[in-house]
Amino acid sequence: MMLTIHAITAFDDNYIWFIQAENSTGVLIVDPGDAAPAIEAIKKLKLDPVAILITHGCHDHVDGIAELLSHYELPVYGPSNEFIPHLSHALTQGDTFTISDEFPEINVLDIPGHTRGHIGFVIEDKLFCGDTLFAAGCGRTHGGQPEVLFTSLEKIANLPEQTQIYCAHEYTAANLRFAETVEPNNSHIQQRIIDTKSLRQQAKPTIPFSLALELKTNPFLRCGEVEVVKAAEQQLGERVNSKAATFRTLRAWKDRF
Ligand SMILES: [Zn+2]
Repeated sequence: MMLTIHAITAFDDNYIWFIQAENSTGVLIVDPGDAAPAIEAIKKLKLDPVAILITHGCHDHVDGIAELLSHYELPVYGPSNEFIPHLSHALTQGDTFTISDEFPEINVLDIPGHTRGHIGFVIEDKLFCGDTLFAAGCGRTHGGQPEVLFTSLEKIANLPEQTQIYCAHEYTAANLRFAETVEPNNSHIQQRIIDTKSLRQQAKPTIPFSLALELKTNPFLRCGEVEVVKAAEQQLGERVNSKAATFRTLRAWKDRF
């Protein structure tokens, strides 16, 4: 099936993703943190909402649900392990569901760490990962265990390399500044900085991006690379002896960056 994905901007740097079915006006709405831009886009693009998909319970992902439901009758799919307002279908790792004949099957990944119940949606070759992985970066852990987030990122890294990733924030340029600091000699990061600047100058999203590109440029997915390990050790002032320890060091470094 050929899906069309629309990026709806909300707040300063959020994206609400619209997944439109082929030859149809039916659309799935991912993480509507604000109803106003979503409703405006529905009207402008002449779409018919079919369902809401929620990756996690942060306000900037769920605060538009109530108002959308006052305009449209929609099921709300989201994680079973955290509070989601108006949730009708609670999901967890390995769940597979179909919303209607128009849409392909959707698979659920548990990817906790940014929040404890965070899930991702895999639809054909696309992953909607909320605030778990960002272009050249990853979510904050909010005092949770970095190892939990690290395990989730490894799960994402094991998807097919051609997977197109749709995250929920436009943080790419700032993330690349950190990536460049960690790996100053990585030419893929340098190229991505150029490409990102060009897209942003045209006011275009830098998302989606392929997992293949992430594996070459995202330090948080490169915790086994010699240069990344060295940078982490220099930052910490002692040796790190596992990928998870490198990740923990990078995450703490980025929090101060
Ligand atoms: Zn969040």
